[in-house]
Amino acid sequence: MTNTSNPKNHPEIFICGDLAHVEEDGRQIPGTAQPAMQMGAHAAKLIHNDLNGEKRIPFHYFDKGDMATIGRKAAVAKVIWPFKAHLSGFLAWMVWLVIHISFLINFRSRLSVFRQWAYTYLFFKDGARLIVGSQNLPGWNEQQVEEKLDLNAPELTAKR
Ligand SMILES: Cc1cc2nc3c(=O)[nH]c(=O)nc-3n(C[C@H](O)[C@H](O)[C@H](O)COP(=O)(O)OP(=O)(O)OC[C@H]3O[C@@H](n4cnc5c(N)ncnc54)[C@H](O)[C@@H]3O)c2cc1C
Repeated sequence: MTNTSNPKNHPEIFICGDLAHVEEDGRQIPGTAQPAMQMGAHAAKLIHNDLNGEKRIPFHYFDKGDMATIGRKAAVAKVIWPFKAHLSGFLAWMVWLVIHISFLINFRSRLSVFRQWAYTYLFFKDGARLIVGSQNLPGWNEQQVEEKLDLNAPELTAKR
């Protein structure tokens, strides 16, 4: 893709978020929400520029830092913007929670996600998500998978 997020020879198409492969300073930017939001805003800006006959500007990722939960009430965070800090433990977990909820698009979705998270948190409802689709898809290595999983187990055959 080009530096304005288009497939080659298709300026009318924009690739954003997890679908995009973007490198900054020789490193691929992460497949997380922050780049996806910035790419979406950038694509909107370019469409606006096109409509006003203005020049297209290349996409640049503005890294505000990284954070990850590492337990039921602990996280780690490396904040780069709007201030620099390294956080860990419960404080980082609270910051993770507030930031992720606050960036959702409206009050209704914030409330709905908060309710779902509270439910899964309080009742330990977080489970593993298994993809049990067609084994004819490219990349499915039947032999290797069958060695690890019992694919004839009733809970898997029911979904196949
Ligand atoms: C388990 C998990 C945990 C994660 N945790 C974090 C985290 O803590 N922090 C973080 O920053 N990132 C996290 N990520 C990554 C983050 O979710 C993604 O990077 C981000 O959502 C990418 O945004 P996107 O808009 O590209 O794609 P998505 O958010 O996946 O949006 C794509 C949308 O397109 C819809 N869609 C798909 N096909 C069609 C179709 N044919 N027609 C119409 N609609 C369609 C989908 O339903 C979906 O709503 C996590 C991802 C996963 C899977």
